[in-house]
Amino acid sequence: MIDIKSLYFSELESFISENGFERFRAKQISSWLNKGVKTFYDMKNLPKNLVDFLETSCYISVANIEKKLISRYDETVKYLFRLNDGEFVETVVMKYRHGYSICVSTQVGCKMGCTFCATGKSGFSRNLSASEILAQIESASQDLKVRISNVVLMGMGEPLDNFDNVVRFLKLVSADDGLNIGMRHITLSTCGIVPKIYELAKYNFAITLSVSLHAPDNETRNKTMPVNKRYPIEQLIKACRDYFNSTGRRVSFEYAMIDGVNDSDECAKRLSSLLNGMNCHVNLIPVNSVKGSVYKKSRIERQKAFINILNKNSVTATVRRTLGSDINASCGQLKRNHTQEGGKQLGNIQ
Ligand code: SAH
Ligand code: SF4
Repeated sequence: MIDIKSLYFSELESFISENGFERFRAKQISSWLNKGVKTFYDMKNLPKNLVDFLETSCYISVANIEKKLISRYDETVKYLFRLNDGEFVETVVMKYRHGYSICVSTQVGCKMGCTFCATGKSGFSRNLSASEILAQIESASQDLKVRISNVVLMGMGEPLDNFDNVVRFLKLVSADDGLNIGMRHITLSTCGIVPKIYELAKYNFAITLSVSLHAPDNETRNKTMPVNKRYPIEQLIKACRDYFNSTGRRVSFEYAMIDGVNDSDECAKRLSSLLNGMNCHVNLIPVNSVKGSVYKKSRIERQKAFINILNKNSVTATVRRTLGSDINASCGQLKRNHTQEGGKQLGNIQ
């Protein structure tokens, strides 16, 4: 069965004409798909033989709402979506002054095993197709009746471990005849799979690359992020510098501050020298504590002292505002609770 929503328009056209139908039908199919129809029978202007052909040879990826949580503090909405095969993924929509931003998942689970991450604790099930990443945006935007203008690939999964589907998604989501969300409005977050950063640079996309650093040295990073044993920090930082040199796009770094683990003055000094002279931005995030983890967020005074040291050393950094704290808006937590507690509700639900 062909995953029709993962095809580029040119591929859809070839597929239709190779199977004996007029090329212009591709445009009609594509516009129905963009409208979010869920079956081929809903494509009202197609001849019956084409509908029958599509029905037997293709499928339409869906992301159906299994759960929806709305924050009481801000307008953050978190979805648990059920995919065609019954797997679940999480997606979060956040409202900012400039519009709506969505955090999408790229895999069901994750292989990377970061010790602070709820997704990492749940293991890996499978990659998402390009259409399943798109379907999260379409379902959320239809449900909320808003246009989503920014996309972050920061939900469940490691985007660069699902490289081909993610590249396909980036091209589809930014296409004029698709959702038309410009690459400049897209951020891809990675734990640091070095060879894939080089591969991504070759595409010269205008996206923002965000690297989950979370530690300033190998000793600390090895403890929380197993990927670091494969691709140590020096290699990672070199890849980021090279990424900037070849794409001209400033890299940003995520640094989850964990009490007593990576938040000392010494860590801030090491981080400053690691990023010395680099055109980048550091986002500090007080770590979210997840079930079964001993990590606690750094105290406010620690956060302030840390950021002061970075700024004094000319490293630009901000502490990120946490949204949706009452609905476990950090990804991986909802699914984990859903599967472990048999679907017990966690917050406001619609
Ligand atoms: N796999 C990719 C993208 C998904 S994770 C990556 O690791 O970058 C999205 C972001 O959430 C990453 O920066 C990740 O390090 C961070 N994160 C995961 N668990 C967290 C937690 N408990 N508290 C704060 N940030 C967390
Ligand atoms: Fe995977 Fe990212 Fe979680 Fe690490 S932080 S386990 S790479 S989703």
